[in-house]
Amino acid sequence: MHPLAQLDHKYLWHPFTQMRDWLKQEPILITQGKGPWLKDVHGKKYLDANSSIWVNLHGHSHPKINAAIRRQLKKIAHSSALGFANEPASLLAEKLVKLAQVGGKMGNSGSRGKPPRFPALTKNPQLAKVFFSDNGSTAMEAALKITYQFAVRTGLSKTPKFLSLDGAYHGDTVGAVSLGHVDLFHKAYHGLLFSSDKVMAPYCYRCPFNRAKPEREDARKYRQCRWECVGKVEQAFARQKKTGNPYAGFIFEPLMQGAAGMIPQPSGWLRQVADIARGNGALLIADEVMTGFGRTGVTCHITDETEVQVIEKADQVRLFATARVGVVPDVLCVAKGLTGGYVPMAATLTTDKIFSAFLGRYDEFKTFFHGHSFTGNQIGAAAAIASLDILASKPSIQARIRLQKAFQKSLRSLWQYSQVGDIRQVGLVMGIELVKDWRTREPFPLSAQVGFRICDAMARRGVLTRPVGSVIVFIPPYCTTPAQAAKTVDALGDSIREIFGRKR
Ligand SMILES: *Cc1c(COP(=O)(O)O)cnc(C)c1O
Repeated sequence: MHPLAQLDHKYLWHPFTQMRDWLKQEPILITQGKGPWLKDVHGKKYLDANSSIWVNLHGHSHPKINAAIRRQLKKIAHSSALGFANEPASLLAEKLVKLAQVGGKMGNSGSRGKPPRFPALTKNPQLAKVFFSDNGSTAMEAALKITYQFAVRTGLSKTPKFLSLDGAYHGDTVGAVSLGHVDLFHKAYHGLLFSSDKVMAPYCYRCPFNRAKPEREDARKYRQCRWECVGKVEQAFARQKKTGNPYAGFIFEPLMQGAAGMIPQPSGWLRQVADIARGNGALLIADEVMTGFGRTGVTCHITDETEVQVIEKADQVRLFATARVGVVPDVLCVAKGLTGGYVPMAATLTTDKIFSAFLGRYDEFKTFFHGHSFTGNQIGAAAAIASLDILASKPSIQARIRLQKAFQKSLRSLWQYSQVGDIRQVGLVMGIELVKDWRTREPFPLSAQVGFRICDAMARRGVLTRPVGSVIVFIPPYCTTPAQAAKTVDALGDSIREIFGRKR
C-alpha cells in the first residue's frame, strides 16, 4: 500500500463512510486533476463522472479559474466580512443577484425567441441580498434562521413551521437535517432535531398513484396518474392552515431531488406546487445546492416530460432550476458549483422585504445574529466570478448542450439490461436505478450494496462515481466530451454485465 494511503488509514475518518469497510482495501488516492480526469498516486487515470461529489463544473485545473485564484492570492487570501467589505465578494454578490432574476440574462441582451411555456409568476419577488457562507448545509441553515426570524417578526407566526419533501436532503447541520427527510440519516439524530413536516414528493417510477406498467423508458414519460402528488401538497397546506398556524416556508430541491436518489419532478409539478405554496402565504425556499449553475440544463423552458427544447442563444440561458420554470423563490441557496467546485463557498439569496425585517435601531437587536469566520472569502469569490464568466461563454453553453444530448443518446444502450429499471436525466444530472428485474421493479436490499459493487467495477474501468443506494449517479464536469460520455456509460454497462453475470 502506498505510504500516503497508510497515513489515511491510520489517521482519517471519512464522511458517510463505514470505516471498517474502508480499512479493508487500499483507497484511491487522488493527486492531480485536469479537465474531467483525476489521477491517482499510482498514475492511473479516471474520468470524474460525479464531478467530485457534484461540485465541479468546468473540469479540474481550469486555466481561467486557476488564474483568477492566483491573481487574488497576490492581493489577499482572506479578510473578515465581520466589520469589513471586500472586492470580489461585492462583485460576486452583484452578479448573483442579476443572474437570479427570471428576466435576468446571461451574455448578450435582447429577448428574441419563443416565450416561455409558463408566464412568469405574477408574485415572483426580486432577489436582492446575498448572505455568504461556506457550504450547502450552512446556506440552508442561514435560510432557515432568516425565514424563521422573518415569520416571527412580521407576525406571520409565533412558532413558524416548515414543510419539505419526502426524501429531501438539505445538508448535515442540525437545522438542515431537521428539514430533511432521509430516514437513514434522520433516525441517528432523532433527539437533536426539531420537527418539520414532510409531504409526498413526485417519484414517478415508484409512485403508488402511477397506474402504468413498467416500460423501457423514463417513468415520467409513461406515467398514468391524476397529479395526486400535487393534490397531496395542496392537502398539506390546507391541513396546516386549519391549525391557525400556516406554514412559514416550503423547502424543496427544484426539478431533481439529489440525495433522495436523483429523483426528477415531472414537467409542471414545480410550477403547480410553487403556486400552491405562495397562495397559502408560505415563503419559497429553493435548495439549488446541487441544481444550480446550469446543472439541470441550458434552456429557459421545458417543453415536455423529459426533453428540453434546445435554444442555442446565450441570452436565454437560465442558470437556476427554479428560473427555468419561471419561478423566483423568496430564498435561494447555492453552494457546490458556486466556485466551479474549487473552494468551499455558499450563498443564501433573499429579497429586500425579508432583509428589511432585520433593520432597526441597534438596541432593538434585530440584527441577523449568525455568521462564519470565512464569510465572503476572497479566494472563493474570485473563483466564483471566473466560473460564472465561463458559464456565460458561448463555447461552454454549446458544450453543455452537446454533452446533454450525448448522454441522452448513450444512456439508451442501458435498457438492454434487465437490472436497469429507470433512467432519469435532467440536463446534466442523471440517475440510473438498478432493480432485481425491470418487469417487477423489485428493489435490491440496501445490504446487498449493489450500487457500491457496481461503482467499484466502474473504477477498475477508469470511471469514478458514487451511488445513492442502488441508483448510479452521473453528474459530469461540463468539459466532458461526447466520447467520454460514451465511455462513462459503457463502463456502467460492462460493470452491470460483470456483477450480474448475464444480460437479457
Ligand atoms: C450537497 C447538498 C447539500 C449540502 O451541501 P454541503 O456542501 O455538503 O454541506 C444541501 N442540499 C443539497 C440539495 C445538496 O445536494
